[in-house]
Amino acid sequence: MALLVMKFGGTSVADLERIRNAAVKVKREVERGYQVVVIVSAMSGETNRLVGLVGEAASGAGAQAPSFYDAREYDAVVASGELVTSGLMAIVLQEMGVQARSWQGWQVPVKTTSAHGAARIESIPRANMDAKFAEDMQVAVVAGFQGLGPDGRVTTLGRGGSDTTAVAFAAAMDAERCDIYTDVDGIYTTDPRITNKARKLERIAFEEMLELASLGAKVLQTRSVELAMRNKVRLQVLSSFNDEPGTLVCDEDEIMESNVVTGIACSRDEAKLTLISVADRPGIAAAIFGPLAEAGVIVDMIVQNISEEGRTDMTFSCPIADVAKAEKALEDAKARGDFNYRELHKDEDVAKISVVGIGMRSHAGVAQRMFKNLADDGVNIKVITTSEIKVSVLVDRKYMELAVQSLHDAFDLDRAP
Ligand code: ADP
Ligand code: ASP
Ligand code: MG
Repeated sequence: MALLVMKFGGTSVADLERIRNAAVKVKREVERGYQVVVIVSAMSGETNRLVGLVGEAASGAGAQAPSFYDAREYDAVVASGELVTSGLMAIVLQEMGVQARSWQGWQVPVKTTSAHGAARIESIPRANMDAKFAEDMQVAVVAGFQGLGPDGRVTTLGRGGSDTTAVAFAAAMDAERCDIYTDVDGIYTTDPRITNKARKLERIAFEEMLELASLGAKVLQTRSVELAMRNKVRLQVLSSFNDEPGTLVCDEDEIMESNVVTGIACSRDEAKLTLISVADRPGIAAAIFGPLAEAGVIVDMIVQNISEEGRTDMTFSCPIADVAKAEKALEDAKARGDFNYRELHKDEDVAKISVVGIGMRSHAGVAQRMFKNLADDGVNIKVITTSEIKVSVLVDRKYMELAVQSLHDAFDLDRAP
């Protein structure tokens, strides 16, 4: 019997009425003859609320947000949101006459690595679920975002992780398709909240979606795209509120025509740090970025400028959330005498804007057009990085929306290829 995976995000299960609405879509697929694995997120806002509670619990009254808390207990708390929606969805489906059963991560079990808070799925043995499907179960409602670590405790997969649960199930259960139902009816040329000129794409290549996701388009968690690409999962994004056709994420050769630039992503939670005047000698980059990596700082863009004789300035960007860790790692390394610097400049008011498209492989001039357009708008570029299919720039955060809108026009993204 063919199997479908259907994932419903937070806004799609925000209350009982929406859960019922989602259940109608599930029932429809059951009536078409599919076995269905439904993956649910927590009700919208719930995971944020739980994360906030963990912070409050760890900081004590009035203190600043804590820099450390026990990640195993963080997972114990934040995984609970999905438990509620999986049970509620199963009840609602049962009320509609569908044989549904909820599954928590450990019951499957969804086996993950030990990295609490950012675990990766290692395997999903299908025997337990297959046995229940072979009995009388028509729909398995799985709590997304969670798994079971080697320490026997619940783990979570990082924010947005239910997408990854869905794709991992689709791969493990040989699903015909993995449908991601969300609050937009597909993948757009850019976040439709930033410009109403954003255009829905019929198809997008895995590689493009991978770049867009990792550069800030949160419509799919990056890891879910990676998994789908590797396991050849047919991945579709569509609306839980209407029946419009969605967007298919597929191999490049399934796409007939595309613009040079397919989409624009942006990320507002970026910071730029500059070490002023470090020695310009072999090994200096390793000495700086080694301790940052050990401290778990996710370094993104890097630029090195020669400033004066034998000295260099080293600039890098990282998520704002990592700035305190980065500062401490650098100060500790300086105190140990690993390297010296005159000052550490912090700029926490930056955003990253990226244009992405596989067409860039065969077309020159995208970067130049992007830079010219930003210059015409009076937007200063602070750092640049490129890859084969993307150009990213760091700009002052206050220009983020303006820059995205203006680049969307400049690359004619509102027009179909
Ligand atoms: P869910 O709770 O269903 O997982 P998310 O909030 O994680 O939903 O992701 C959907 C949101 O992603 C949309 O509401 C939209 O604002 C945002 N988004 C960002 N970039 C894009 C894009 N290129 N296309 C569609 N949506 C995008
Ligand atoms: N509820 C989790 C989050 O908000 C996982 C998800 O929704 O994908 O990050
Ligand atoms: Mg999401």
